[in-house]
Amino acid sequence: MNVVYINGPVQNGPFTIADRPGKAAGIRAAQALNALLGAGPLPHLWNTVTLAGDLRHREAPDRDTVGRQERELGAIAAKYEPGPAPVGGVLTDTAPAVADLALEMTERLLLQGSLMVIPAAVQICARCGHMTGAVAHACQACGHQRTRTATRRLLVWDRPPDTPVLAREDLHAHQARTPHHLLTIAQNVPQRLILSRTRDLGISLAPLGLEGLVLDPRAGLHIAVLAAAACHRAERPAMTVTENAAANVAAYGALFRQHDGTRLRYALHGRIPYDDTATLQRLCEVHRVGPPLRELFLTWFLPLCSLHIRAGITPAQLPALLKFWRRAHLARPDAPASDALTELRHRVTAGDMRWVMNIQTLAQAIPKSPGIHGADEEPEGAS
Ligand SMILES: [Zn+2]
Repeated sequence: MNVVYINGPVQNGPFTIADRPGKAAGIRAAQALNALLGAGPLPHLWNTVTLAGDLRHREAPDRDTVGRQERELGAIAAKYEPGPAPVGGVLTDTAPAVADLALEMTERLLLQGSLMVIPAAVQICARCGHMTGAVAHACQACGHQRTRTATRRLLVWDRPPDTPVLAREDLHAHQARTPHHLLTIAQNVPQRLILSRTRDLGISLAPLGLEGLVLDPRAGLHIAVLAAAACHRAERPAMTVTENAAANVAAYGALFRQHDGTRLRYALHGRIPYDDTATLQRLCEVHRVGPPLRELFLTWFLPLCSLHIRAGITPAQLPALLKFWRRAHLARPDAPASDALTELRHRVTAGDMRWVMNIQTLAQAIPKSPGIHGADEEPEGAS
């Protein structure tokens, strides 16, 4: 069994997990599933190669004393406060293990002729030189309105006609759940993809003769997942990601989802309405769900549900889910049946999440946490 779940790298923006728990949905879902598989702990993955990160660093008053990498790592550490840091650590998309693997994969793809370094026309900001891409639009780095066409040596993928960028086999899910609309949307990219970008931070392509350019972060985040999987000798990493995010990155990752027998697949999840805390608070009172059980509902059950309800959980679904959760919790067996756990692991390995809506199976899966009791339930061992 070598499936592990790894979160699609989260953009290291200005937020904390306590403020924006929805950002951690993929991390939490991966953690819950790995625990059921007996795998891990795996690192939490973060995406630091962002234009917004470049701008924050440039504008920071302490930019002369704090390096960019240091700033990113400090911001990631602060995300978890006041909670504990992740047991499995964190991995960024520029970590040495990721950069090494990225260069190895890119060199191999260049040798195979899948990727090319060629002079190509791109739009460059007339003021700051930021490469805005193939199409002219205002510069997102400095806000300047005017770009000019320039010819630059770039890393490109000229996709052969009719090459799918995302197929059914790239999804870690049971057969009945193919999102055909997603496969269609992901395909909607230019036939030539530019895989090199101008960024202050990233995986430098200078060793390939592309001075001043970095690998497109949408490719890099797939490589970060492969690097994390390699550390855990897992050949079948499932990357938790929303459908929107998958649609945005799938084309850029098409050549970077496989390496030396390891194959990355996407485990799609929907959004969780965490922002509706007032409603949740009231619901918990009505249904007599105490703080520990509420916490487990938020950080364990809802992330697992989000892999099943891929269109996104709506606030209107919360009351029913909370009632269901409470009933499942009351149905927990004293000791989980071993054949039930084996069956559960088979399903998690196959990406089949229907079990999360089955009260008996869910009851078997609920982790034993000290102090997790319903408000009106007898404490464990009291009877
Ligand atoms: Zn500019």
